[in-house]
This record gives sequence, C-alpha cells and structure tokens, in this order.
Amino acid sequence: MPASSADLARLAAAVPANVIDVCDKLAESGFQAVAVGGAVRDVLRGAEPGDWDLATSAHPDEIVKLFRHTIPTGLQHGTVTIVTGRGVESHIEVTTYRGEGAYTDARRPDSVVFGVPLQEDLARRDLTVNAIAYDVAKEQIFDPFGGVADLHAGVLRAVGVAVDRFTEDGLRVMRAVRFAAQLEFALEPETEAGIRPALPSLAKVSRERVSDELRKLLAAPKPSLGLVLAQRTGILETILPGLSLDLEAPDRVDPSVRLAALFAPVADRKRVNETLKALKFSNAEADQAAALVAGIHAVSAATDGYSLRRAVGSIGRAYANELAKLDPRAHPVLGDPLVLRELAITGNDLMQAGFPAGRALGELLTSLLDRVLRDPSLNTRDQLLVLAKG
Ligand code: ATP
Ligand code: MG
Repeated sequence: MPASSADLARLAAAVPANVIDVCDKLAESGFQAVAVGGAVRDVLRGAEPGDWDLATSAHPDEIVKLFRHTIPTGLQHGTVTIVTGRGVESHIEVTTYRGEGAYTDARRPDSVVFGVPLQEDLARRDLTVNAIAYDVAKEQIFDPFGGVADLHAGVLRAVGVAVDRFTEDGLRVMRAVRFAAQLEFALEPETEAGIRPALPSLAKVSRERVSDELRKLLAAPKPSLGLVLAQRTGILETILPGLSLDLEAPDRVDPSVRLAALFAPVADRKRVNETLKALKFSNAEADQAAALVAGIHAVSAATDGYSLRRAVGSIGRAYANELAKLDPRAHPVLGDPLVLRELAITGNDLMQAGFPAGRALGELLTSLLDRVLRDPSLNTRDQLLVLAKG
C-alpha cells in the first residue's frame, strides 16, 4: 500500500508555517528539503507530531548563508538550527543528507559523508517507519523502504538487513522495542530475529543512552508490549543481568512510578538503588524507585492500620503519595502523621518541659511516634506531653 492522497493531505495540513517557509526558501535556492523521522511518522499514523526534523541536500555552510539567524548546533553531523522566531518552538533543525561509513565500535560511524542523495540518507535510518521523507515544497512523499505500508500495517521493520543494522549501532535494538510499545506496533519476524545476534553491540552502548531508552519505553501507554519483547530477545538480560522483573506491573500504574513497579520483584532496596545508578538513572530516580520497592513490600506485609502506617512512614513522607499509586492500600493512611517531623510535639517542646537533650530525647520522640502510628488521634501537643511524662 503506497502513500495515498489521504496521506499526502494529512501531511500537507500538518506542516507548521515556519517549516514550510524554511523548506520553500531552500527549494527556491535549488535545494531539496524534506521532513523526515518522528513528525512524518506521527502525522501519518494520526498522532500529534513532536519536533519537525528537516533534511536537505544543502551543505551546512549553504544553510548558514541562506538564513538570517542560525545556530551551528552540530556541524560535525551536518546539523544547523534555524531560528524562525521567538522561543525554542521556533527552532528548526536542518541536517544535510548524509551517508555513514563503517561502524567499528557499535556506537557511531567511523566517518560521515555529506552530499549524498536522499535515498542514501534514508538508508542509514533504523526503521522503515522512521525513513519516510516528505518533500514539503513539492508535497511529495519519498518512501523507498515501504515505511508507509508498514505504518498502516502497524509493523516495525529494519531498513535493510536487520542484524547488520542492529550490530552497527547497538542502541537500535532498544529503539525497536521502545517503538513497539510507544506505537503499539509488532516487530516484523526477521527484524526481531536480528536482535539477539546483535546484543554484543548493545553491551557497548553507553549506559546513559540505554537508560534514556528504558525511560522512554516505560513512558509508553503499555510498556509491557516492549518489555516482553525485550525479554524474549535477550535485551533485558543484557542491560539488567540476573534480575527478576515484573514486566506487566508498569502497565497498571502511573508513569511516575513505573520504574519501581518493574523492579518490585528485586525486593532488595540497596540492590535496586545500585542497579539503577549503575545504569545512569539520576540519583533522584534511583532513590525513589528503591524506596518505593521497599515500600511495596512493607505495605503488602502490613496487616492492620498500625503496620500500614509504619510501612508508609518507613520510606518517608516524600514518597508516600507515589507509594499509594503503586498500592492503593496505602491511600487511607496518607493523611495520618507518619514521620517524626509530623508529630505535634518537637524535641524543643520536650526540652522546655524539662527533658534533657541527648539520645534519650530522640528515643522518646521515636516512642511517641510509635504511639501515634498506633493511634493517630493521640497526635496533639497536650496528649503527647502527658504520654512523655507518663
Ligand atoms: P521521537 O518521537 O522519539 O523523537 P524520532 O523517530 O523522531 O522519535 P529521534 O531520536 O528524534 O527519533 O531521531 C530522528 C530520526 O533519526 C529517526 O526517526 C530515525 O530516522 C533517525 N535515527 C535516530 N536514531 C537513530 C539510530 N540510532 N540509528 C538509525 N537512525 C536513527
Ligand atoms: Mg524526534
């Protein structure tokens, strides 16, 4: 199924005015300029497009000459940012058509050549649905790898020989399963079969790039669609060896707590924390996921209001709301005092009442918290003073 007039009409209607202006200007000067990548893909599948990326036959220095306001964002990759107005929304990235030499390190090509035909630029891209070009000035689709048909069929297919493409750049296997989840597409069988033999390349990819992909996968409507593929193909064992993970749980919870849902079976807070930091998740992400994993287990072991409040309080107030997103049993106690800071009495109050400073004071506060966890109605200054003296 080639591109239909409906596909063309969709694209024509979706291209923003500043993108049209940039393309027209390049075309008037005799260059070809096309939209390519995520925006074209998303418009054709009826979704809201993100950034519009342009590719052109013009060389970077020609682009710079043609436009009044440009930023040399990534000249070594042939990328120039054209500033078409105020604010970052007005920034349009234009990349000169490029071909890639051999990959020897599984991460980036040894050389990049400019001045290749569009067909060659599209041939270096990962998946056919990401290799559809739309010539904005001529209102024509250029789709040498059948990406439009794959898009309509809901299929992800590597451009060219899957195992070769995945071996060149080890991140592509993660992109493939991420897009499977994000777009809710199937992996074409040969494309899937190309993943396992390319895993040694994935092992060489920087952990930042790997965790970026995992983060995007977990943000998909149904992450399990990609996680199950990642497990079946050996991706998970490559990036998170020796861990048992819950591939279905992330689907059921809010995106903000999916990392914890995935790692819940690991159970050991420290191990979760170290694993995530080793994969270059931020300290905040790792700390939160690890605390929540501990919280999930504590909450599920709780048998009454007291043990439930203790469970939620033990991981700290900062994570309490997130914990309730993972296990609704935590919900009813969220409004109760759960941590020392929330006691109606402070160490200072106790010292003013005659208690000496020191370790015993800390222990007293902890025991008062324990009383309040058992019975939240005790949390008034007067009652706690009485309890402290008693
Ligand atoms: P998103 O909506 O996540 O931005 P995208 O498809 O636009 O999706 P980008 O990472 O912005 O993804 O890349 C833009 C385009 O560049 C892709 O559509 C694809 O054609 C190409 N591309 C990006 N990364 C790779 C890669 N690792 N290997 C091959 N081609 C790639
Ligand atoms: Mg993009």
